[in-house]
Formats: sequence, C-alpha cells, structure tokens
Amino acid sequence: MKQSPCVLVIGAGMVGTCCALYLQQAGHHVTLVDSGQPGSGASYGNAATFATYGCIPVNHPKLLSELPALMSGADQPLSISLPYVPRMLPWLIRFLCHCKRERVDHTIRALASLLAHAEDASLPLFRAAGAMDLIKRNGTMYLYSSEKALAAAKEDIERRRQHGVAITDLKAEQALELEPALAPVFAGGILYNDGFHLHDPQQMVSRLAKRFVADGGQLMQGEVKMIEALTSNRLNVRTQETDLQAQHVVIAAGAWSTQIASPLIEPLPLDTERGYHVMFPQDATLLTRPVGMADAGLYLSPLADGLRAAGTVELAGLHRPQNPRRLDYIERCVRRALPQAGQRGDTWLGFRPTLPDSLPVIGRSTRHSSLIYAFGHHHIGLTLGGITGRLVQQIIDDEAPVIDLTPYRPQRFND
Ligand SMILES: Cc1cc2nc3c(=O)[nH]c(=O)nc-3n(C[C@H](O)[C@H](O)[C@H](O)COP(=O)(O)OP(=O)(O)OC[C@H]3O[C@@H](n4cnc5c(N)ncnc54)[C@H](O)[C@@H]3O)c2cc1C
Repeated sequence: MKQSPCVLVIGAGMVGTCCALYLQQAGHHVTLVDSGQPGSGASYGNAATFATYGCIPVNHPKLLSELPALMSGADQPLSISLPYVPRMLPWLIRFLCHCKRERVDHTIRALASLLAHAEDASLPLFRAAGAMDLIKRNGTMYLYSSEKALAAAKEDIERRRQHGVAITDLKAEQALELEPALAPVFAGGILYNDGFHLHDPQQMVSRLAKRFVADGGQLMQGEVKMIEALTSNRLNVRTQETDLQAQHVVIAAGAWSTQIASPLIEPLPLDTERGYHVMFPQDATLLTRPVGMADAGLYLSPLADGLRAAGTVELAGLHRPQNPRRLDYIERCVRRALPQAGQRGDTWLGFRPTLPDSLPVIGRSTRHSSLIYAFGHHHIGLTLGGITGRLVQQIIDDEAPVIDLTPYRPQRFND
C-alpha cells in the first residue's frame, strides 16, 4: 500500500482547495489552512466564467502603445496608481517586457496547454462535490464597442481558434437576438460556444471544501506567518496559534503567497492586478449568459444573487482601499450596455495574483523540495484550479505530469 505522507495546503481559494482534493484522492493526509472562509479571496468576487478560451494575456504588444492613455486616468479598463509606481517598478518593467510578440506567444501556448485540461480536471471535482447545479452552460459572449476594436481583436480571436477554442462570429444584430436586453451599442463580437459559468463561485469553493472535509480532510482556520525547514523532508508551518509539521507544504495563497515569511521561498516577482465588482441585485434575469464588454475590460455575469459587473485592472498593490472612480467607471459601462439596470448593490475589490509573464508558478521551491508553489493564476484562476491541483499532486507523487511543467517552473525568473 502507498505511503500517505502529510501535506499542508495554504490557501482555500479555488486553487488550494482543488490541490487539497487531488492530494486527498491520491491517498495523502491533507490539511487545508486559510485565514478566512474557503473561497473568500479572489475566488469570491470574480466574473464567474470558466474561461477555457482565456489564453491571451493582458501584457500584449498593443499594451505598450495604449500605456500613456492608461496612465492618465481611472476611466479606462486598466489604471495604474501613480503613488504605487515606484514600489512596483521592477515588476512593471518585467510585465511590460513580456509585451514582446515572441514572449506573448510563449505565454499563450503555455496558458493554452493548461486550459486544454481545465474542464477535465475540474468537472470531476465539481461533480464529486454535488455542485453541478452551480454550473450554467450557455456559452460566453464577447462584444466590442466599435468596428475598430473588433478589427483589432481579430488576430487574437484567430489565435484562440488555433488553440482549439470553438468560436462563432456575431454581428451586432445576432448578439441582440441572443441577449435582447442589451442596448444597440456594440459593433459585433463573438460567442465562445463551449463557455460556461458558475452561479456562485464562492459557493462552489465552499462545496468543494465540504467534500474535502467529508472525505476526512482537515480544514483549519489560521493565518500562516512562517515556514521553516525541520529536516530535508519535513517543514514547520507557524500560524498565529500553533505550529504544524508536514512532509510537503503547498503555497496556494493567491496574491498573498509571497507575503509569508520564509527563507525557503525564493524571491518571486508576484504582484497583484486588482479587479472590482459591482452588483445589480435585481438584474440577473437581464442576461442569459456572461457578456464580456471586451474593450471596457469587464464582464456582466448573471449570478445567483444578481447581475455582477466584474473586471478591470488596477495596479495599486495589496493595501490601498477601493478606488470609487473604478466603481463609477464600471457602473457607467453597465448602464451603457443595459440602460434598464436597476440600483447598484454591493461592491468588491479583489486581488488577482500575477507574475510578470502572466503564467502561474507550479513547481517545487529551489530552496526546499518539500515546498511546492501553486499561485499566480491572474485572470483565470477559477478556471485553472482543477488542473493546478492535479499537477501539484503529480509533482508531490513524482508522477509524470499531464503537461510539460517547464513554462511554470519557479526558476524561470533567474534564467
Ligand atoms: C474582478 C475579477 C474577475 C475575475 N474573473 C474571473 C473569471 O471570470 N474566471 C476565472 O477563471 N478567473 C477570474 N478571476 C481570477 C480568479 O478569481 C483568481 O485567479 C483566482 O480566484 C485565484 O485563486 P487562488 O485560489 O489562487 O486565490 P484566492 O482565491 O485569493 O485564495 C487565496 C486564499 O489564501 C488565503 N491566504 C492568504 N494568505 C494566507 C496566509 N498567510 N495564511 C492562510 N491563508 C492565507 C486567503 O484567505 C485566500 O482564501 C477574476 C479575478 C478578479 C479580481
């Protein structure tokens, strides 16, 4: 019988919870620790799309020419907080260096190879958690506000097709036939035919965590402060309350992953692309599927508790409070697309974990082989949780991984 070493997973977001489940299924004794409730970080307030088409990164050749406009105001899909620029300059320079065509193509290939396994790796977990009722499969629409924006997107749409994504082109009137509540303010767009979304992403993570506990996993609340080596194959994890020992530790703490103190964590250039949501609680029935307002940088997603307008990118770190101008921008975009939208409800600020090449790190620490990284899933972590969990299990069990892990290895930042 296979030995069952202890694994401790830090972070019960979509990524950490899927890691815990895959490791548990492989026979490990797993503890999942989070400072809050499962799914209360970025996995809570996102746009809820299972974005298997999401292989095009934000740092893109076009970003360089658009940067001056983006620097000059909050009324843009991407905004940069000027006071934060000096702190994030090294990250920002690396992020912008990855706008070069050949680097972007590398990122697209590496994201596409994860995305190709996203459904196969996630759906069995969703099913085992009795959570298939949270899935609505009706495609995902992307609309562009002008002919110019649509034409500029053509190349990337083709790239997605080349990676096997099923896409139907939509004329403006076809989009309105599919979603009649939309105002005629779009030049056209596309339908990702196979796209689906979750009615309530936090509920999904919560059900996954319940399955994990029902199958004997240990879920703990606690903030991890420190990770230290005890021996060459044993680690000590210090929380505020207690010390926990494990043979393997997985860091899946999203945007906070490198905030944990440890000589075992090498310097990894993790920062955050902040994103927002604004709820319109009475308006979930206005749409039948998520509608991406592509050039506005946000989705309108019909969810269990209302219509959620979620997205945009703000580079301003982990500590600055919500920026009301970003929320007003989102509200204006919503009212333009859906003039009959009612009163605005709750708002939310979330922290996407992003490395400068827009690829996650999935691999062993170079400083201690018992420490495994699983973070940095930026705009598509809800989609990539399952495949990341499967890969982390394969790393820990020294099995051949389902895909080549080279693009995600932590050492790439020292190459
Ligand atoms: C506006 C917006 C829209 C998005 N839309 C989509 C979308 O439509 N589709 C998609 O696929 N992705 C989307 N994303 C991205 C997605 O939400 C994230 O990539 C994903 O949630 C990251 O999951 P995670 O588990 O890595 O991180 P998180 O969900 O943030 O989980 C990390 C967990 O670690 C815990 N933690 C942190 N530090 C510690 C510590 N020291 N000790 C213990 N616990 C700790 C936190 O409490 C948290 O629960 C969106 C993101 C945003 C912001």
